Amino acid sequence: MSEQEIVQEMIALECPHCQGELYQPLPYFKAAKFLCPLCGEGLTAGDFAATIAALEEAVDAYHTEMIHGEASSSCCCGGKGHCSGH
Ligand SMILES: [Zn+2]
Repeated sequence: MSEQEIVQEMIALECPHCQGELYQPLPYFKAAKFLCPLCGEGLTAGDFAATIAALEEAVDAYHTEMIHGEASSSCCCGGKGHCSGH
């Protein structure tokens, strides 16, 4: 009975202090400040900003490619081959 569960994007990033793998939802890494659950060192969003930016860029490019690929397969009038009326 939990179909409305919010799907969190889980990502794995390396802690800069203990090099341990942190497997947490994306918003966790975007929090201004938090503690590494492995070594207890203080971490900030800035520690992961570059990694997250690169990650989001990759996801963005992936989606854009999908949308673009879909759009290019149909022309202005459904791709029936007689759109010279414009
Ligand atoms: Zn750590």
